[in-house]
Amino acid sequence: MSNKASKLIVANWKMNGSVELINSFDSFFSNIAFPHHEVVMCVPYPYISFLKGKNYFIGAQDCYEEKNGAYTGCVSAAMLKELNVRYVILGHSERRKYFSEDDAVIEKKFKCVSNEGLIPIVCVGETKTERDGGLMLDIIEQQLSFYKNVADEFIIAYEPLWSIGSGKIPKISEIEEVLEFIKQKTYCSKVLYGGSVNSNNVESLINSCHIDGLLVGGASLLVEQFSKIIKI
Ligand code: PEP
Repeated sequence: MSNKASKLIVANWKMNGSVELINSFDSFFSNIAFPHHEVVMCVPYPYISFLKGKNYFIGAQDCYEEKNGAYTGCVSAAMLKELNVRYVILGHSERRKYFSEDDAVIEKKFKCVSNEGLIPIVCVGETKTERDGGLMLDIIEQQLSFYKNVADEFIIAYEPLWSIGSGKIPKISEIEEVLEFIKQKTYCSKVLYGGSVNSNNVESLINSCHIDGLLVGGASLLVEQFSKIIKI
């Protein structure tokens, strides 16, 4: 067993995968000794009930902002809880961009998730233009304003938008600066980094004592890549 600190590694499959891939991951997890890091698998809704959750936690990528009712096509936090979901990603930049989710909607979702006793993972991050214009911390502070006085358990994932899916990541010192800022501004239990994490760059990220964990997109769809990431 490694003596390194245990981190939270969250896989975000987005709208990818298949029952076959779920089964490959499930057998991979069943056959490893309990991983040193805590792993969360956030798969598309229809696949959640296929996950057995042995040696990992089950997560969701979103939920609706109301408790129940006539909202065709939506999924509530209570439904996720029934499927043994423990973590719910909220405010991912793709939700903000393609579904026009603003901070007010994300806050409503946050309340639904927290009220069910699930743990929200709220995504924040700046665009390249905002970073280049020196607005990075202002933008992040604005995205965090609701969470400043929240005492329920929650996690923040810092995901610079220009890093997601691009293969580019900030310098470790730059990530650490933002994570420390987030920790000063909120009572969140953990701060994760997300954006182009893969088996080649994971070691330096995991070794930073300021980074409590990682949100992994593309590399979480490949059993071999992801297994290298969670074994570092
Ligand atoms: C993400 O979308 O949350 C993400 C981190 O994606 P990727 O790892 O593919 O950049």
